[in-house]
Amino acid sequence: MKVALFGPPGAGKGTQARYIVESYKIPQISTGDLLRAQVREGTDLGKMAKEYMDKGALVPNEVVIGMMKERISRDDCRKGFILDGFPRALSQAEALSRIVGLDAVVNITVDTSALIRRITGRRMCGCGATYHVDLNPPGQIGICDRCGGSLYQREDDSEATVKSRLEVYHTQTEPLVEYYRMKGLLKDVDGNRSIEEISSDIVDILAHIEGQ
Ligand code: ADP
Ligand code: AMP
Repeated sequence: MKVALFGPPGAGKGTQARYIVESYKIPQISTGDLLRAQVREGTDLGKMAKEYMDKGALVPNEVVIGMMKERISRDDCRKGFILDGFPRALSQAEALSRIVGLDAVVNITVDTSALIRRITGRRMCGCGATYHVDLNPPGQIGICDRCGGSLYQREDDSEATVKSRLEVYHTQTEPLVEYYRMKGLLKDVDGNRSIEEISSDIVDILAHIEGQ
């Protein structure tokens, strides 16, 4: 199963990817997570990427494509993978098509007003778990219930940066919706609903694809 989760920042791609990882036992590949790991480790790539990420801009294509190529070539991707946050530009989609073919692109659509709230209220744990101040009871939001780690807010989840990220999504990433629709790969999912309702739709889509 080779699937890309598509949608604007805050649509719930990472949240839904976790459900698919558990059901299908295939890895989630998030370019955002890979880049943040480089930033944390203080590598040259991380230092360079941070300048773009802090502004809400896309990290240069050649960097991200190189990172993806390397990740997809690893053994754990043999049975498939879930892409989260890649591709984000036409040149990335074209590069991906030269490496591997996707079975489906799940497009999670969410109203812009809800996206801003989802992003500014997001809290992260170093173990990869994601929370939201509106979904998790007050008092519990400081601590991760998976690993007990302290939660933090991503630097680029501030309201000012969110607006740039949404702009970048509309200009550079959203055109891929038509690109994948034309290829017959796009599956739209209404993301303005509960995590469970969205997940149930995605499970149905993937089951249908697997049965084909
Ligand atoms: P993305 O990976 O697309 O940027 P996330 O999965 O990190 O988005 O979700 C963004 C924020 O919205 C997180 O805080 C998450 O807990 C919350 N969230 C995810 N799905 C939903 C949903 N269906 N309804 C409300 N909040 C959600
Ligand atoms: P995300 O975690 O998906 O919200 O991504 C966080 C940031 O990482 C983005 O705002 C970009 O700066 C960078 N990034 C993630 N994925 C990509 C990609 N496919 N291409 C370019 N930049 C990316």
